[in-house]
Amino acid sequence: MGTVNELTKPDGGNGLSRYSLYQWARDTQYRRRILSYCILFVLFWDCAVFYYFGEIMDIADWHLNWDFLYGVHDIQRFLFIAPILYAAYYFRIKGAVLVTLASFFVFLPRALIMSPYPDPLLRPGLFTLIAGIIGILVGMARNGVEQRSRLEGLVRKERDKLMSVLERMEDGVLIVGPDYRVRFMNPAMEREFGEGIGAYCYQYLRNSDVPCKENCKLSSVFRGVIERSEYSIRGTRTYDVIASPFTDSDGQVCQLATFRNITQRKKVEEELVEINKMKSELLSNVTHELRSPLSSIKGIVSSLLQKDIKLGEDTTEMLLRGISEETDRLASLVTNLLNMSKLEAGAWVPDKERFYIADIIGEVINKQRWAHPKHLFEVRIDPDVPEIYADFGQVRQVLLNLLENAVAYSEEGTHITVAVRAVDGMVETSVTDEGVGIPQRDLERIFEKFYRGNQERSQPGGTGLGLAISQALIHVNGGRIWAESIIQKGSIFHFMLPIAR
Ligand code: ADP
Repeated sequence: MGTVNELTKPDGGNGLSRYSLYQWARDTQYRRRILSYCILFVLFWDCAVFYYFGEIMDIADWHLNWDFLYGVHDIQRFLFIAPILYAAYYFRIKGAVLVTLASFFVFLPRALIMSPYPDPLLRPGLFTLIAGIIGILVGMARNGVEQRSRLEGLVRKERDKLMSVLERMEDGVLIVGPDYRVRFMNPAMEREFGEGIGAYCYQYLRNSDVPCKENCKLSSVFRGVIERSEYSIRGTRTYDVIASPFTDSDGQVCQLATFRNITQRKKVEEELVEINKMKSELLSNVTHELRSPLSSIKGIVSSLLQKDIKLGEDTTEMLLRGISEETDRLASLVTNLLNMSKLEAGAWVPDKERFYIADIIGEVINKQRWAHPKHLFEVRIDPDVPEIYADFGQVRQVLLNLLENAVAYSEEGTHITVAVRAVDGMVETSVTDEGVGIPQRDLERIFEKFYRGNQERSQPGGTGLGLAISQALIHVNGGRIWAESIIQKGSIFHFMLPIAR
């Protein structure tokens, strides 16, 4: 496989041969250099021949009728300026000096041997000096031009690199001048806030007509301070902003700010704070809930153990029943906590089977009737409701949780109704109570773990786990659960489960 640095050239019928781009460029440079040497040599050679043209003609015994070609004039010497400038242009100062010295050596034989003048070295020497200085100056100028264009190229390359980094950045970048005007923004900034080059920063970012009073960091940034702050747009998006001083190409100190969208992180942080708060509430609640049945049991057992007090049969039975109830409370609390952790670990896998939901309702309602004789339980099951396909034990747990809540959040003497009907290929079960109801803002959150409303429970217990467990159980069985409520009128909890096929 060829790389980008390679190009393909035809190769005299031998198929395609490959040359690296680098090699090709190097060869071209080499060829150009050889050509420059040849041109310089030809130029110099022509000047030298012209300088001794008369003598060459004499040796060749070929006399031309033009005196100018036989004597030496400054013009002939002046012609040497051409190879000197050429050398200065292509080979810089060193080339100019070498060709100037070579010219002087060309002038020497005529000056020392042939010249009839009293100071034969004066004029060639002067010419050499002036031509040498001109050559060196041209060489220096060429060096300067080349250095400048190399530097410009380097700056352009660096700028392109910087621009491509800015363009690919996920964070927004904004440069604001001392006049509050936006001078630059990268595409990420444009995506987040829209186009705004030339606009005032307070208009662009805050939609205000005057500069911001407290939040503006420009003055401290101009004093060299790096400022970090959070910027929130109407509570929907939050950015982590780092503003630092930046000197623009016109020498003005500006503010360069990066905007990182931290909305998601902020949300997670807030949720974590909320969860931590709920967990500590739960911990204190669980501790309290564990302690109160334990204290009751301890009190009852102490009474039973007192040998000096003779207890009647009825009293003993009442105390023992008390122990049994408190133990049930403890067991339910521990079961809820265990169920939650099993669900979270994915270890409570449903063992699905076909059954009639009426079978569960009958059993659970009987238990509730016995435990809460002052509540009025009703069951309404549509005829021909088909079998469902779910985990019997898990559905039973859900129904138990909903009925326990219905009892806990309603007065004695009120109705609690369980209704069942078939809808859209599912079986819907509803538990209706005539209790305190649930405020709208709580309705959206009651299925969250550890979430508890402010309503008073008429029954002991309550960990904020019952509904979260119920929702998770219904979901693993392929159903859905939701609630409706009217304050002081009551609540309805519905859950749907798939019909057995
Ligand atoms: P808890 O153990 O606190 O009852 P749940 O997860 O069972 O926890 O219920 C969460 C919250 O939902 C309760 O704290 C309560 O505010 C509300 N809730 C649940 N069921 C009812 C209901 N039948 N009537 C009124 N509020 C209810």
